[in-house]
Amino acid sequence: MSEQESQQQLTSSSSSSSSSSSASPSHNSNTHHSHPHHNNHHQQQHRQQPPSPLAGPVLTQNNSNDNQALSTITPLSNPRPSKEPYYKRLGTPLNTRPASPYTLNPPIDSDGLSWPSLGARKRIESTEEESKARESRIADAVKVILTELGEDVNREGLLETPERYARAMLFFTKGYEDNIKDVIKRAVFEEDHDEMVIVKDIEIYSLCEHHLVPFFGKVHIGYIPNKKVLGLSKLARLAEMYARRFQVQERLTKQIAIALSEILQPRGVAVVIEATHMCMVSRGVQKTGAITSTSCMLGCFRSQQKTRDEFLTLLGRR
Ligand SMILES: [Zn+2]
Repeated sequence: MSEQESQQQLTSSSSSSSSSSSASPSHNSNTHHSHPHHNNHHQQQHRQQPPSPLAGPVLTQNNSNDNQALSTITPLSNPRPSKEPYYKRLGTPLNTRPASPYTLNPPIDSDGLSWPSLGARKRIESTEEESKARESRIADAVKVILTELGEDVNREGLLETPERYARAMLFFTKGYEDNIKDVIKRAVFEEDHDEMVIVKDIEIYSLCEHHLVPFFGKVHIGYIPNKKVLGLSKLARLAEMYARRFQVQERLTKQIAIALSEILQPRGVAVVIEATHMCMVSRGVQKTGAITSTSCMLGCFRSQQKTRDEFLTLLGRR
């Protein structure tokens, strides 16, 4: 399996989940015109979706919150041949937006900010004063929340809570300030090893971007090298970098897999995450102990059942 092929598979699977938000505007109208007599309800709805890749609501499918167990292994279907650069076809995982929304740089871009958020650079480049000011703005907002919830922000137990919470949130989202270059440094080594490498049970703590409450669990990463290997501790650093942001588990899974695939150009990459979502177990459906599983298989892990099975067996999953 060549790199090219695996990328195309990736693209096709990404576009299958939410292609409508990033497809060109003409796509919808073409569909409409070519079937004038089948103007059914579904197409009507389809046409009303925002055409801009930046404006689209995303992730209408695969929302894990209501699914007890969820797998995103997507079968290979119609890889779309394309001459466009890889990163332009790819978008972000799940096509939530272009690879880097404001520059269209590849995911691993020249300034090293991989999948930066809107304010990532501002945050990174803040002076100490600006950082302090940010912290106190967050704290002020927390006071509003506490007051609105009926609390007395002046009682002893809560006196320093807003500042404490602000610092905690900045820590929980510190992944926005990391970048691939710093994380990987010089830990890519030439090595004539072509057997599967697996690191299991990497702990992650992340924040659900829909409810701003934690989800946490374990990441298992496997890959089959193609003359390049990565220092083992870097796999955990990579997972940490993407986890310390506002996330959905599906995207986190893909980001780790794609980053690894870009860095090493391996024969294949497999990432499985098993996590507990506080928004799921502590409210609403209250399914205590429910675990959400997601996986992303690239290259030979996607194309070869045997390789995938070997990985899952080594994880103790079958
Ligand atoms: Zn949630």
